[in-house]
Amino acid sequence: MIKTKKQGLLVVISAPSGAGKGTIINRMLEKNKDLWLSISATSRPMRTNDEEGKTYYFYTKEEFENKIKEDYFLEYAIYANNYYGTPKKYIQEHLNNGQDVILEIEIQGAMQVKKLIPEALFVFIMPPSLKELKQRLVGRGTDSKEKILERFKIAYREMNEVTKYNYVVINDEIEEATEKVLSIIKAEKCRVDRIEEVFLNTEEEYMHEMLVDKELDNEPLNIN
Ligand code: 5GP
Repeated sequence: MIKTKKQGLLVVISAPSGAGKGTIINRMLEKNKDLWLSISATSRPMRTNDEEGKTYYFYTKEEFENKIKEDYFLEYAIYANNYYGTPKKYIQEHLNNGQDVILEIEIQGAMQVKKLIPEALFVFIMPPSLKELKQRLVGRGTDSKEKILERFKIAYREMNEVTKYNYVVINDEIEEATEKVLSIIKAEKCRVDRIEEVFLNTEEEYMHEMLVDKELDNEPLNIN
């Protein structure tokens, strides 16, 4: 009786560094094979855990700036003195195939996407407390003290922007937070604005269906 849009959902997920967003997204991808994670481009140096084309596409600053000129990005931003951007390529293709596309991006980029695609879903992941956030940033041990302080400052500013998102999930516990984000996506796909077509019969046909029980030899039902 109802045909919903086959098109996948664009899901933008942001969080301050250290909120556990990466782990949640990895769990989401393991649990739901219909999700596709967009791989971003960046000009930041590779870290030990990075892999070209898997965590990011790594470019020099100049290469990145050339890509900006070529209109290669859906959005891009400078974060902690480095460029980050979402390649446009493949996103529409995956959405058309009915896959939900995840963009794991920071807030300036998220707000650019909101302007371009207001019907996208915007989810913000919060650390459970400032203390926990600090521990996670320090515990990672991949950055210098200055870098950590810089990220801590940015994180503070970002957390104040949470109201620009549609949903907020507090990452107290990974599994629960993962389930919450997956449930938000599921619920979002049931929204009435995703209905493409409603094919209802005429009221007469509809009432006929109600009043005549074919399996009971067309005995009229008494619905009074
Ligand atoms: P990291 O260097 O720790 O991997 O990422 C730093 C920040 O950049 C994170 O908040 C991450 O979500 C964000 N980021 C990653 N890819 C993109 C992107 O394509 N666009 C934007 N705007 N931010 C991104």
